[in-house]
Amino acid sequence: TYDVHIIGGGLAGSEAAWQLARRGARVRLSEMRGGGDMSPAHQGTGLAELVCSNSFRSDDSEKNAVGLLHHEMRQLDSLVMAAAAVAQVPAGSALAVDRDVFSGEVEAALAAQPSLTVVRERIDTLPVAGLTIVATGPLTAASLAQSIGGATGAESLAFFDAIAPIVYRDTIDMDVCWMASRWDKGETKDYINCPMTREQYLAFRDGLLTGDKTEFREWEANTPYFEGCMPIEVMAERGEDTLRFGPMKPVGLDNPHEATEQFPKGRWPYAVVQLRQDNKLGTLWNMVGFQTKLKHAEQVRLFRTIPGLENAEFARLGGLHRNTFLNSPQLLDRQLRLKSAPHIRFAGQITGCEGYVESAAVGLMAGLMTAAEIAGEEWTALPRTTAMGALLAHITGDAEADSYQPMNVNFGLFPPVPAEVKKKVRKEAYTARAKADLAEWKAAAGT
Ligand code: FAD
Repeated sequence: TYDVHIIGGGLAGSEAAWQLARRGARVRLSEMRGGGDMSPAHQGTGLAELVCSNSFRSDDSEKNAVGLLHHEMRQLDSLVMAAAAVAQVPAGSALAVDRDVFSGEVEAALAAQPSLTVVRERIDTLPVAGLTIVATGPLTAASLAQSIGGATGAESLAFFDAIAPIVYRDTIDMDVCWMASRWDKGETKDYINCPMTREQYLAFRDGLLTGDKTEFREWEANTPYFEGCMPIEVMAERGEDTLRFGPMKPVGLDNPHEATEQFPKGRWPYAVVQLRQDNKLGTLWNMVGFQTKLKHAEQVRLFRTIPGLENAEFARLGGLHRNTFLNSPQLLDRQLRLKSAPHIRFAGQITGCEGYVESAAVGLMAGLMTAAEIAGEEWTALPRTTAMGALLAHITGDAEADSYQPMNVNFGLFPPVPAEVKKKVRKEAYTARAKADLAEWKAAAGT
């Protein structure tokens, strides 16, 4: 018998198991690798295997949101952070690890927990009862994915992330762009519009066609993607005007910066790039229809040729990968529980966070929440101003459900610091506030 069943022994599942076991909860951790199954990206059978890079990114907790996340996780006795410290290899200001040492440390720490049992088995259906944490990651085995799709509605479970680049609102030049909806009648001005002349449009299309792209991996190429998430460069290939009749359509968009006596509302540009609000705070805006397989450096170079985006900073760049994830803002409550079956929590990348550290952080929170539930205690939410609190709020309701796509932690997810804080010290203001608020939360929670 056990108190909680964790499915998936990756970054999130291992961290959740640790948080629960060290509080005495009886945990069954089911991991399919080592039991005769393998994912298309994993190489071995170790728990918490890093499937690609060996980096947990910046360890700077004063100027960097992921570095702050490291700090917060260490404050909450994270196993992933402890194992990373043992496995660390030199990487400047980044935290990088020897992946085998790292996985071995996680495995050993969990094996030493008397109340935890690791079982090498594949789980094919969502348990109908009993506290459960599903942490099966971006490559969740097909049978379980089908069961999750059955419980959530298949359209709420994605198999590709089709990520359009996301821009920080305060880096968009509004002397060039303007807010409007198509056929604007003055009521809703939902989009930021960047105007293009014919020359700019043709040069831009050329950049899309000739730009350096990443290739699909073999197992990704075999997973069909839908028209709705076609890369922008594939659309550009179809013809000179395809984009102008698609995502870059200028029809019904009067540019007020071009207003004249004859045309007091302005003129339609030759083409537009539209951005749509991506979070409730209004700090992040996505470039509508711009999912792409262009290499990151190429995206930055090309997208900064768009009028109004010359100085754009990107919260994330575009991409298209195989990735199983839920429409969490719609499906999960503020404690990561499936609203329609609250005995089931989700954790890790399947909730739509992105990255090793973020996945582990969501696993950590799922572990703490479940531990509180087992103990019959009220869970006190982490402050919204911390990296963990900001990430959780985004996943569980603050992100726009319609355009929900996986996202790394970034300062755009935090409630803005006061406007009078100078740009040069804004990052420090975010991290100092987060650290103080986490310390207060910890003291009150007695964690
Ligand atoms: P995982 O670490 O994948 O863990 C899920 C576990 O569940 C796996 O061990 C799997 O075997 C198991 N499992 C799946 N289905 C079942 C089942 N039905 N029953 C039992 N067990 C099951 N992030 C980065 O920060 N840096 C990178 O370089 C990076 N590269 C990536 C490359 C690829 C190809 C992919 C797909 C993702 C990459 N990510 C990267 C994104 C992401 O951060 C990682 O995938 C991360 O491992 C997610 O953590 P997780 O715990 O949610 O899932």
